[in-house]
Amino acid sequence: MPELPEVETVKRGLQAMVEDTITNVIVRFPRLRYPLDSEKLNLAQNQKILSISRRAKYLIIHMESGYIIIHLGMSGKVTLYKKNDVPEIIKHDHVDITSNNHILRYNDARRFGCVVYSPDLSSLEMLNTLGPEPFSEEFNAEYLFSKISTRKTPIKQLIMDNAVVVGVGNIYACESLFLCKISPLRIGNEVTLDECYKLVNIIQQVLTKAIAAGGSSLRDYRDAEGNLGYFQQSHLVYGRAKKECKECNTPITEIRLGQRNSFYCPNCQS
Ligand SMILES: [Zn+2]
Repeated sequence: MPELPEVETVKRGLQAMVEDTITNVIVRFPRLRYPLDSEKLNLAQNQKILSISRRAKYLIIHMESGYIIIHLGMSGKVTLYKKNDVPEIIKHDHVDITSNNHILRYNDARRFGCVVYSPDLSSLEMLNTLGPEPFSEEFNAEYLFSKISTRKTPIKQLIMDNAVVVGVGNIYACESLFLCKISPLRIGNEVTLDECYKLVNIIQQVLTKAIAAGGSSLRDYRDAEGNLGYFQQSHLVYGRAKKECKECNTPITEIRLGQRNSFYCPNCQS
């Protein structure tokens, strides 16, 4: 599933579209998490793109009097083409957002993503319920401590909870907890303020590295320019069940936690 670093990579790739004017939106297969609404999406017609931002894993196209919000779901791919250089339609090419210079094509085999138009952002519940961005000032040790110190939920699930902080996907949660020597099973109220300082710092470092590498969660992931976004990043614990811990040679343990596979070193992490 595309994680925050992949979405950030796509956002950066889409900046070429800023200042373009949208000419039309072509909906081919409307069935996504929210059905594509051709009529609404075409309200974007003749609007200039002012900027393209990211909030959590949502891409937001800001126009003169409205927004297009894109979520990649489990398998969504956004590719940006120059207008005279567009390949043929393939299966699952759900929608094209066409501008005077480019075509943004959204492909989604598993259809868990969405592309919606909204005249404003404040009324959108999908954005309203989100916690702070991992790189924002709001996400600091005191904040994290206040959010988890009364909770009896395992720390891994808490840092993956979008209401606590957005964008810490499974891989990054596993890797960050290993680097902090905290077991994913430790419950929230047993994590100290000192550990929160470390955790905030490490989460930011892990995400920064992943963004620099273009994201790492999908093998066939492509950025908006069609470049392969998967760089064989060597994970410390993620995906390394039964392999030796790189610190202490203990076999890495794999457990199911909150319906996600979790990997940790039972010796280094407690
Ligand atoms: Zn170890």
